[in-house]
Amino acid sequence: MTASLLKHRAFIGLGSNLDQPSTRVIEAIKALDQLPLCRVAQQSPLYLSTPVGPQDQDDFVNAVVELHTAYTPLALLDQLQRLEQTQRRVRLRHWGPRTLDLDLLLYDTLALLSPRLEVPHREMLNRVFVWAPLLDIAPEATLPDGQAIKTRVPLHDRAQLKRIPLQDND
Ligand code: ATP
Ligand code: CA
Ligand code: CA
Repeated sequence: MTASLLKHRAFIGLGSNLDQPSTRVIEAIKALDQLPLCRVAQQSPLYLSTPVGPQDQDDFVNAVVELHTAYTPLALLDQLQRLEQTQRRVRLRHWGPRTLDLDLLLYDTLALLSPRLEVPHREMLNRVFVWAPLLDIAPEATLPDGQAIKTRVPLHDRAQLKRIPLQDND
């Protein structure tokens, strides 16, 4: 697949808090790049964040990547869910620990609400561990209505995130 055919731009949020989470996230980024109709165009740094929901679990490692893709949004969701399965995602309870979570954050300028897929991801602006790495790689990213994401989030909350030095895995 030549690059010119990968004409859609999607942003994917990655998260893991089990089984060497930095490694899980780094391997998932490689796997996304190796999908037949996808190329990773940019990747954010990895960040540590405290969990949403139950607090009696390890911190999460999070990152965001920009994908160039020829998949439709639902076909891309299928691929993300397949990768979650192949990384043996463990899902014991809602918002509990998991080996890998892949969320479709943005897809071109699409706004979509369907039973399986909501784009933009509905919690994107409420989670610093999602919007901060997104703005690292796409400071001018917009919502489907054209509003700049950087104007819709509390930028000072970035200080809550701890950037993981590259050599310091897990
Ligand atoms: P949250 O959605 O709050 O981040 P979660 O990631 O833990 O929670 P999951 O169990 O991974 O939730 O996903 C539940 C369902 O969400 C999936 O089966 C999927 O169909 C649906 N879904 C809706 N919109 C999206 C999206 N933009 N990206 C990924 N999954 C989505
Ligand atoms: Ca999620
Ligand atoms: Ca998810």
